[in-house]
Amino acid sequence: MSIQSSITEFRDLAKKKSYTIAKINWWLLKYYDLYKYCKDNWNTCSCFRELPCSHTMGSEENKFVDFYKSLEKVADLHKKEPYFLEQLQLFEKVRDDPSALIKWLLHNEKLGAEDFLIFWIEWMEEEDLVNPGINFFPNIEVKILVKEFESTIQFMEVFNELYWTSDIVKER
Ligand SMILES: [Zn+2]
Repeated sequence: MSIQSSITEFRDLAKKKSYTIAKINWWLLKYYDLYKYCKDNWNTCSCFRELPCSHTMGSEENKFVDFYKSLEKVADLHKKEPYFLEQLQLFEKVRDDPSALIKWLLHNEKLGAEDFLIFWIEWMEEEDLVNPGINFFPNIEVKILVKEFESTIQFMEVFNELYWTSDIVKER
């Protein structure tokens, strides 16, 4: 298994220039051992022994580790889809009850205002694609159909509209 062939294989998984989460997960699983190997060995030929040098920093192994970790982050965020669907259903029940609504916002504060903030601000520039800005290798742009993050996006719309103008934020 080489880095080059794993990257070529990843490139070929795109359909109309976008990826499904299922395909990303499949690829992550298939190349987990290669990732472990690169993570343990990317710096073994450093000119500065333990410390990285410009060669090891720019090595394919190091790039592969960054690439893999970035994809893993996307896959991790996607795991929250069922949770957000559940929270949207809960929102419908509390939306007209101010104190229950505040509880709902506080309960989701970390996810909405921290964990998914970059997703919302930087990954949603295109209307129909999520773009996490993963561009370590030439000719690979990891874009995902918004459909994959349907509940996440709906949740963020609702959360952002209410949270940033709520008393929770004003009182801090
Ligand atoms: Zn060096």
